[in-house]
Amino acid sequence: MSLTRYKKIRDFKRTPEPDSGKPPGDLPIFVVQRHKARNLHYDFRLEMNGVLKSWAVPKGPSLNPGDKRLAMMVEDHPLDYATFHGVIPEGNYGAGIVEIWDHGTYTLSDKSPNGPRGLKAGSLKFTLRGRKLKGEFALARMSGSGNAWLLIKHRDQYATDQPYESGDYTAKNSPINRALQKAGGRKKSGSKAS
Ligand code: MN
Repeated sequence: MSLTRYKKIRDFKRTPEPDSGKPPGDLPIFVVQRHKARNLHYDFRLEMNGVLKSWAVPKGPSLNPGDKRLAMMVEDHPLDYATFHGVIPEGNYGAGIVEIWDHGTYTLSDKSPNGPRGLKAGSLKFTLRGRKLKGEFALARMSGSGNAWLLIKHRDQYATDQPYESGDYTAKNSPINRALQKAGGRKKSGSKAS
């Protein structure tokens, strides 16, 4: 689809209609990308201010409120990154495999400060509507640290008290799992590594 005609027949100095981007009222999106680079990690991204605010979560998100998952804030990514998956070739930043682990929409909690202000204050509360991640979560910046945050599930109907391993909620034949099995098969066979 193209917006050429839409734009051609309007003068955006004269109409309040948008000339690009998502229509107002659309819920912002989130995405979690599983990324096998030097280390396997999960990139948690929230749409905010026209970009994807991004955190690298080494252990991945959890639905267990007892887990406080370290989330290192990294550089903003463009919105289009939300649908990216595939191979980043050797020699490039983050070289390895990216797969989409979860995606959906989110809403910020009413509790202020939130959104861009909460980002600055180091406290975000939000509700995710994904396939795997649902319900209320918080991202809280650790005191005295620039980039280290904690991703925490709040107690609600979607929370679990069982141990939660993000990797368990991935198709066995996902590109990353296949790569890991190949590497693991070379190193050892038999008992599961802890
Ligand atoms: Mn990454």
